[in-house]
Amino acid sequence: MKPPPFEYTAPTSIPEVVALLQEHDFEAKILAGGQSLMPLLNMRLARPSILIDVARIPDLDYIRATDGSIAIGAMTRQRSVELADTVRTSHPLLYATTMHIAHPQNRNQGTLGGSIAHADPAAEYPALALLLDAEMRAVGPDGERTITATDFFITYLTTSLEAAEVLTEVRLPLLPPRTGWSIQELTRRHGDYALAGVMATITLDGGGQCTEARLVLFGVGATPIRASNAEQMLIGTKPGQTEFVAAAAKASGDLDEPLSDVHASAEYRRDLARVLTRRALAEATANAAGAA
Ligand SMILES: Cc1cc2nc3c(=O)[nH]c(=O)nc-3n(C[C@H](O)[C@H](O)[C@H](O)COP(=O)(O)OP(=O)(O)OC[C@H]3O[C@@H](n4cnc5c(N)ncnc54)[C@H](O)[C@@H]3O)c2cc1C
Repeated sequence: MKPPPFEYTAPTSIPEVVALLQEHDFEAKILAGGQSLMPLLNMRLARPSILIDVARIPDLDYIRATDGSIAIGAMTRQRSVELADTVRTSHPLLYATTMHIAHPQNRNQGTLGGSIAHADPAAEYPALALLLDAEMRAVGPDGERTITATDFFITYLTTSLEAAEVLTEVRLPLLPPRTGWSIQELTRRHGDYALAGVMATITLDGGGQCTEARLVLFGVGATPIRASNAEQMLIGTKPGQTEFVAAAAKASGDLDEPLSDVHASAEYRRDLARVLTRRALAEATANAAGAA
């Protein structure tokens, strides 16, 4: 199908974007890599009267190592994240996450900020943002503000960005020492969105005791979901199979009502969440022990 008619504009600065968003209010849509927006337009599920293309704003395209985190401009292509030396060396979890997204052709166009702003509950970057307590920076008519990941993802394809705000930067904290991580997901075909997925980090002290556990489930609800109760069960233990099984049961049991659609039933997704959580915790713990 073809999209409905729309106007097109390509500003070169962030203040211009904000002014355009204010002028057109809910009628406008920001266009980044177009990998999610163009299909929505073609299927006529979105009908903006104007597209504001942010691809020509140099201030939105960068990857910077900062104090304890990596700051990434919203318009940075996923392929640039994949190829950046600083990402591979200082944030292997970010690199691995990027490699789970779609196909090289999609990553050539798709942006990190576009994926976060789109807020698909089965997408990898929003799950990573929640896992790491990332900070999102947005600019609007009242200036800049920082939004934590917990406050950012509201529900399916909905964030706390205001209509006249543009996402400008995502800050992803680096992992602490002695930390292992794991990404587990099930897809029907390579490059598809996950039917369900789990990301985990485990931090161990010198004696092998867990000092921090982070666990996020995605593709099972309206947003990525932090499994806080399961995390708490692991802290203070020397985690092994017994702890992994118990925490995985808690994480999947705590899910309110997993998503049910043509791809998988709610029951299947709940069980998948349990199995993937157990595997993720086991791998993250083994990696943490190796890192120590
Ligand atoms: C075949 C295929 C397979 C895919 N598989 C996966 C997958 O496995 N995992 C995955 O995570 N994703 C997948 N995707 C989606 C892909 O990652 C997209 O690149 C991403 O979701 C959106 O990024 P984009 O830059 O293309 O944004 P766009 O499509 O341009 O925009 C998406 C939405 O975000 C808004 N937006 C974009 N930038 C900003 C900004 N700076 N400020 C405010 N709002 C903004 C837009 O207005 C729009 O509503 C797939 C896509 C395709 C086509």
